[in-house]
Amino acid sequence: MLFKSTINPSHKVNFKEAFMQGICPFKGLYIPEQIPRLPIEFWDNLDSMSNQEIAFKLLSPYLIDEIGQEALTEAVAKTFHFPFPLVALSENIYTMELFHGPTLAFKDVGAQFMAEMHRFFNAQSARKITVLVATSGDTGGAVAQSFFGMDNVEVVILYPKGKVSPIQELQLTALGGNIHACAVLGDFDKCQAMVKKAFSDTDLQELSLTSANSINVARWLPQMVYYALIYKELKNKNKEIVVSVPSGNFGNLAAGLLATAMGLPIANWLAATNINDTVPHFLTTGEWNEKETKATISNAMDVSAPSNFVRIQQLKEFWQLNGNLLGASCTDVETKQSMKFIFEQFQYIADPHGAVGFKVLNDHLKDHTSKIGVFMETAHPIKFPEVVQEAIPSKIPIPQSIESLTKKTGSFKVIADDIALKNFLLKL
Ligand SMILES: *Cc1c(COP(=O)(O)O)cnc(C)c1O
Repeated sequence: MLFKSTINPSHKVNFKEAFMQGICPFKGLYIPEQIPRLPIEFWDNLDSMSNQEIAFKLLSPYLIDEIGQEALTEAVAKTFHFPFPLVALSENIYTMELFHGPTLAFKDVGAQFMAEMHRFFNAQSARKITVLVATSGDTGGAVAQSFFGMDNVEVVILYPKGKVSPIQELQLTALGGNIHACAVLGDFDKCQAMVKKAFSDTDLQELSLTSANSINVARWLPQMVYYALIYKELKNKNKEIVVSVPSGNFGNLAAGLLATAMGLPIANWLAATNINDTVPHFLTTGEWNEKETKATISNAMDVSAPSNFVRIQQLKEFWQLNGNLLGASCTDVETKQSMKFIFEQFQYIADPHGAVGFKVLNDHLKDHTSKIGVFMETAHPIKFPEVVQEAIPSKIPIPQSIESLTKKTGSFKVIADDIALKNFLLKL
């Protein structure tokens, strides 16, 4: 399969190139040149297939010709090895929990699949690569976990000191080995600016720096699978399904729409954001207005220039999006009320991102009572303990998988500026 640039459609590359480059020349994003439609029998028979078989079938058209059946089977097995429970809160409201992976957020899926692609494409060359990434919280942990212990790979993660939660920080700092946590005294934007500068520094070119950015096709594509799993569970209810996706950079939602373009029978989508509402505002008014990013309690979605939205717009060529994709935003006060409401009504503890998804969904269902609604729970509430505990009285249970993590102490290096980062990279 070839992938074309969203900016210049005549620029086409294969999966390997799209994966290696990440972003295409002139800042376009790669999208598949064609989107195959899977037959209706495939969707009808989802319940007879395992999650890994479903993932294999959805990903296969995009990369099997380059990596082959064996490698794809293995990559899928290493990525989709934990459950994706669909939990009923009421008769017509469900949540899909995407947080049962090793770092308790949905980014585990994309990061692990990307690591598997590195293993496949770089295994032949003995060249050392350095993955350099800035994180506002969840990406860093997922990337660290996925690349931990991999031969010939160093991972350098820049994070804003004091602005990630204690568990998020431990996920970056406690692994050691080939994972290097760099604490920056500043905000996420500063971390990102330092990463960008390093990528454009010619002195650093010999290090084979590579990004683990969420726009990479290897991180984007596997996320289609969640939505097929929703349909697998709910199709026998014979009701229209509406899915609410708490969104920041819009990769997750763009993957859902790609699955729809492949024939997934989910017709209604809600783009749910916090007050960084560029997309809902655009969907409602037709006006694209990037305001300055504001900090919120659903901080993984503090994005005002969502790079993946261009993919969503281009998918319109394949699928009549109009009318089926709606957007709405939610203030911090509403997010807290939403966490409280979910707990009081359903005895369920949502994280702030899921709570945004719920609020937008719940408002929609008031006027669409015959539909079944699903909101995506993108992270475990324990990753945001302060905010959640402020909203609800009950203590958040600590998942077994991270109990040992909470007993560890992490180590990190304080990196003051571009020059300090450069020196650190050169000494790795
Ligand atoms: C990254 C993230 C999001 C936003 O996902 P996008 O694909 O960037 O829209 C939402 N919730 C959580 C918890 C995240 O970590």
